[in-house]
Amino acid sequence: MSVPIYRRILLKLSGEALAGGGRESIDPDVLEGLAGDVRDLLGEGIAVALVIGGGNIFRGAALAARGMDRVTGDHIGMLATLMNALAMQDRLEALGVSTRVMSALPVGGVCEDYNRACALRHLVKGRVVIFAAGTGNPFFTTDSAASLRAIEIGADLLIKATKVDGVYSADPLCVPDATFYSRISYDRALREGLQVMDTTAIVLCRDHGLPLRVMNINEPGALLRLMRGADLGSLVASGD
Ligand code: UDP
Repeated sequence: MSVPIYRRILLKLSGEALAGGGRESIDPDVLEGLAGDVRDLLGEGIAVALVIGGGNIFRGAALAARGMDRVTGDHIGMLATLMNALAMQDRLEALGVSTRVMSALPVGGVCEDYNRACALRHLVKGRVVIFAAGTGNPFFTTDSAASLRAIEIGADLLIKATKVDGVYSADPLCVPDATFYSRISYDRALREGLQVMDTTAIVLCRDHGLPLRVMNINEPGALLRLMRGADLGSLVASGD
């Protein structure tokens, strides 16, 4: 069996990924499955960090559009990401995976504050690190937080988990004949405004040469196969 080609990855999950298709904000079965996938990566000797969004619970911009102060909304959104991070930590620990949640907003008594040196140490010790509360600043998203943290920890790949198979010219759920890109440059993704990650996140990846893999991780074993070199989803990288 082939060995992993990555040594340290950051996996970005949207909050909605935890909800599955159901009505609950967090579906325990979905969470359990995702935690199992992460455990399998550790079993391959890969250091794993996670960023989980909060969109299953709260999005600042959506509430701002209905009159709520945007900064307050974003603070609530960041706290929502912390809830998801704690839920994931709980499931990972239940599977025997040592996990630390590090929050960009200080929440003493609940989890550690984000500290890069400590995060690196946790990863070296084989712990999963979940970065919560995004960047700690309003007007950003957890996509940007994922790029930022991935660069800070020296990840060799950022994986953005999506509901579809990768990057398309248009949303394939609405436009069935949309073109699929197995590989696309950062600049083209930006130029064409493709739904990959937000602009800040892609620019950070581009400027720091961090490869980004956009893929559907719901397919059983997909993450492991990617780690062993399978060309799954779409690779966003330099060059056209
Ligand atoms: N958020 C923020 N700053 C950040 C990251 C997130 O203010 O650095 C807030 C923002 O309100 C956002 C919410 O947290 O809408 C949830 O994050 P996001 O929308 O990225 O979650 P996802 O869509 O990935 O579930």
